[in-house]
Amino acid sequence: VSLKSERIVLKHASVICGGGSEWIADASVAIEDSKIAFVGPQAQIPIEYHEWPSLDLTRHIISPGLINSHSHVVMGFFRGLGHGKTNMIESFLFPAEKSLTPELIAPLCYSYIVDGLKSGVTSFVDHYYFSEQIAAAFELLGVRAWIGETIADLGGAFPGEDSFDRARSLIETTQFSSRIRHTLAPHASDTVSTSLMKKIVDYAAQQKLPIHMHLAQTKGEFDRVMTREQKTPVRWAYDLGALTHNTLAVHLTNVTEQDISILEKSKATWGWCPSSTVIYDRLAQVSGLFEAEILPAIGTDCAASCDHSDVMSELRTAFLFAKDRGVSGEKLSCDKLLAMATTTPAKVLGVSSELGQIKAGMLADLVVHEVDVATKPIFDPLTNLIFSAGSRNVKHVMIDGHWRLWNRQLPHIDLNNLNAQHDAAVATIVKRTGHSL
Ligand SMILES: [Zn+2]
Repeated sequence: VSLKSERIVLKHASVICGGGSEWIADASVAIEDSKIAFVGPQAQIPIEYHEWPSLDLTRHIISPGLINSHSHVVMGFFRGLGHGKTNMIESFLFPAEKSLTPELIAPLCYSYIVDGLKSGVTSFVDHYYFSEQIAAAFELLGVRAWIGETIADLGGAFPGEDSFDRARSLIETTQFSSRIRHTLAPHASDTVSTSLMKKIVDYAAQQKLPIHMHLAQTKGEFDRVMTREQKTPVRWAYDLGALTHNTLAVHLTNVTEQDISILEKSKATWGWCPSSTVIYDRLAQVSGLFEAEILPAIGTDCAASCDHSDVMSELRTAFLFAKDRGVSGEKLSCDKLLAMATTTPAKVLGVSSELGQIKAGMLADLVVHEVDVATKPIFDPLTNLIFSAGSRNVKHVMIDGHWRLWNRQLPHIDLNNLNAQHDAAVATIVKRTGHSL
């Protein structure tokens, strides 16, 4: 199989189309360039596709590519660092972050992106500094990303008014492939001043870009904003026009009942990182948010608080946490869980017509899962994918019509070189911060 053929038909697979539609047994998916040309039962494939090159995927499931709705891929190098220590953030994260320099960034991103790719993630919604270098890492690996240069003037790793200028210059002057898009990424409500937030909101509206921000993550953030503004973080963001149907508000761990009503009215999307919030702090008010139909887009956050980038396993975790908090099973059906990593993020990013489903006309971002005896029996493929299969079943991943994972390998990448670059960058950080591995 060619890693990039202009035309290919994937035959005899079980296809999970997403978007709430039924799965199709013994189906075909035809791909032309970067787009899906046809999906339907094998028996109904139009004659025009009969001559195209094909790949027999009997005993395989095809699903839409997954979107990791909140990541800081550079921070993959925090994996395991200071794990379980109460002062992890102050003693490990901050000093390491301060010692980052541009040439280390792309190599440091590789680990977390590859982890995602190998578990079926085709898009990342990332939030960090050094976005140009982060985009370079995504470009090298051929993975889709929304990059957001972190903007903050009151706190965070590299605060300053000029963070807004950096973000603007990235959007207006840099050139990437069509796989790289932008968001406006204010850091959080306690690290961004009111005047700066107003600028961000105006600019996002002018550029028609989504806003991707942390909001109401910690009790500390809640208290600081209450003192500064005499209102909650959610109320503050809403009053400034920062919460709209194009806003991905991540965490929402510390919200009041009134905040939940505001969020409901705003149509903003809740970015939920189930493992990360519990490892770092505690679970959000899941039942109240689900009750108000504020449905989540699932992310993994960063390796400082969640050591993996496996979104499919996070769907299972999301189900377990939400069910434990009294959310009804009906609101947590498998197609609703899948939506949290496909159609819901696609909607807030404004790409519902391009991504999130296996559908004719959409971009060819898809995952081929191998079915072996360890995965059987299969009465409903999606239930198996979320609850019993796993990244071990992810065999091929296509992004934009290119096979970016083929037989669990990265066919277009010299992995030895990638490993060496990553290890050298980590060694430099370790040396600069004085930590031993
Ligand atoms: Zn985060």
